[in-house]
Amino acid sequence: MCCARRFAVLLFILFFYAAPEVSAQDLFVFPSRGQSNEQMQRDRMECHAWARQQTGFDPFQASPGAPPPQAAGGSTAGAVIGGGAVGVETALLLADKGTLSGDALKFLLVNHAEAAEDLYELASRGTKQIVLLEMIDSVGKDIGRSTRWAMMQDVKRAGIEMRVATRALEITASSVRVETDGRIEEIPVDTVVLAAGAQAFNPLQKALEKRRIPVQVVGDAKTPAKAFDAIHQGFAAGRNV
Ligand SMILES: Cc1cc2nc3c(=O)[nH]c(=O)nc-3n(C[C@H](O)[C@H](O)[C@H](O)COP(=O)(O)OP(=O)(O)OC[C@H]3O[C@@H](n4cnc5c(N)ncnc54)[C@H](O)[C@@H]3O)c2cc1C
Repeated sequence: MCCARRFAVLLFILFFYAAPEVSAQDLFVFPSRGQSNEQMQRDRMECHAWARQQTGFDPFQASPGAPPPQAAGGSTAGAVIGGGAVGVETALLLADKGTLSGDALKFLLVNHAEAAEDLYELASRGTKQIVLLEMIDSVGKDIGRSTRWAMMQDVKRAGIEMRVATRALEITASSVRVETDGRIEEIPVDTVVLAAGAQAFNPLQKALEKRRIPVQVVGDAKTPAKAFDAIHQGFAAGRNV
């Protein structure tokens, strides 16, 4: 297992961070404990599976010298349209993709595999640059004050670009066309998430009413709001049954 972990460090360094140089102290010579060829093969496969799972990159599938996979047009950026609570949460989720997991971070830290500042960068910056587009002049207006403060710290740390007073006009095959202060601009992206609002979808109500079954509608099925509203309405509905 120890051998497997050392291999994993090496794989991380070679494939994930694409570090141009490997210093002498990063090198490990195998077999270090006289293990059999069979054991070494098993360790290698274990390392390969672990590194592939952690990085989402399979070096066995890549042609030599090939760059990491990119979307058409070479963009690795994503846009979230709508800077309400749902948009901010989604932007954070997308920006987190490709960052180090807690386990990987601890492993690399305790093995002194990278400098602390580099680990911070790898833990906080993902593989996609995310831009959050909001047409009003502030982001996360519908989030409670303390939660919003914490989320805005996360947004900054993740390097999410916030564009307020910016209206999305059109989504093309490789970009989002936006307008800010009358100025039109195209932002190249390979992913777009629409978080521009929600409305109730409740076809069951009509079907039940048709059969004269009494119905009470509560929560987001009535009007999208907060969890508290749904719970409160559910409680009130329960008392009426
Ligand atoms: C990304 C996001 C973040 C949010 N963050 C917060 C927050 O921080 N704080 C807060 O207070 N609120 C938050 N909300 C709002 C909150 O989640 C909702 O207001 C709340 O969940 C509404 O509760 P509900 O029971 O009405 O609907 P839901 O929680 O959506 O539950 C409805 C359930 O019914 C199921 N369902 C639908 N149709 C059928 C069917 N035909 N048969 C069986 N099951 C069916 C669905 O699968 C779903 O599980 C957030 C919402 C989103 C989308």
